[in-house]
Amino acid sequence: MSNTFLAIGECMVEMAPTGEGTYAMGFAGDTLNTAWYARKCLPESWTVSYFTAVGQDQISDQMLQFLGDSEIDTAEIRRLEDRTVGLYMIQLKDGERSFAYWRSHAAARRLAADADHLKAALDKAGLIYFSGITLAILPPEERKVFLSGLREARQRGAQVAFDPNLRPRLWESTEIMRACVTEAAGVCTLVMPSFEDELAHFGDPTPKISAERYLAAGADMVVVKNGPEDVICATKDAQTTFQPDPVRNIVDTTAAGDSFNAAFLAEFLISDDINASVDAGARLAGNVIQHRGALVDSLVPA
Ligand code: AMP
Repeated sequence: MSNTFLAIGECMVEMAPTGEGTYAMGFAGDTLNTAWYARKCLPESWTVSYFTAVGQDQISDQMLQFLGDSEIDTAEIRRLEDRTVGLYMIQLKDGERSFAYWRSHAAARRLAADADHLKAALDKAGLIYFSGITLAILPPEERKVFLSGLREARQRGAQVAFDPNLRPRLWESTEIMRACVTEAAGVCTLVMPSFEDELAHFGDPTPKISAERYLAAGADMVVVKNGPEDVICATKDAQTTFQPDPVRNIVDTTAAGDSFNAAFLAEFLISDDINASVDAGARLAGNVIQHRGALVDSLVPA
C-alpha cells in the first residue's frame, strides 16, 4: 500500500476578531484540520497530501505556503485562473460566535472538474479522507465523478475514510444531503460520523443505529463519536464501545471530530489496532478541546 494520506476538501481563509474592527487571518477547514493533525501523528515515512482547487492569486499562494510550512504536500492541488479561495469571518456578540461565509464561488468547488487530474491524485494514495462538506460543495455531476474515483480506489485496495459532517445549509436540500451521504458511505472502508449530527439530520435514536445504517449502506467499518460519551466501532461481525477519558477544562470544541479522525486514522494505518486507534483519537481530541482554536501547535501526540 502507498504511504500517502490524501485529504480532499476545501481550505478557507479565516478572519478571527482580535479587537475593535481588527482581525487575524488564518487558514482552516474540516479536512485541512484532519490533514494537519495527521501530519503530526504519522511518521516521516508517510506523506500527508491535500487535494483541492485554489486560484492563481496572492492569497492562494499564501494558502499553499501555509500548507507547505505545515509539511503538507500540495503538488496535486489544482490552480484555476478565474477563481480564488473561499473566506469566512468569525463574529462575536455577547461572547457567542457566529460565522459569515463567502464561499459560493470558491475554487474548491471545482476540485473534481478535471476527472483525469483527480484520478492521478487518487491513484497515489494509500488512504483517502474526505467529508460531507467536500461532497456538499461539488456540483451534482462532479459528485458522481468524485464518488466513482473513490469506488475505483477502494477496489484497488486503498482505505477510503469519510466523516459525514452534516451541514444542511451547504446542500441543495436535506433530502439530497441524506441521499448523497448514504451513497458516499457505500464507497468507503471507514465512516466516522459524530452522533450529534446523525441525531439531528437522520433522526437516529442511538449511535448504534447510526453505525448500522452506514454498514447497511456498504461501509466496512463505522466509528461513531459522541462527545464525552462512548465511541462505538462497528463492523458487520462485531461491535465494541470505548469510553473517552473525561475532560474537565473544556475551552473550545472546534476540531474535536477532525483531530479525533486524524489520530485514529494515523494509528489505524500504523498498527491496524482498533483499541489503540480509538484511544489515540480520543486522547488527541481531549487535548485539542482544552485549547482555543482548531489547530493547536503545542500538541504532540504521545
Ligand atoms: P464529537 O465529534 O463532538 O462527538 O467529538 C469527537 C471526539 O472528541 C469524541 O469522540 C471524544 O473523544 C472527544 N470529545 C468531544 N467532546 C468531549 C468531552 N466533552 N469530553 C471528553 N471528550 C470529548
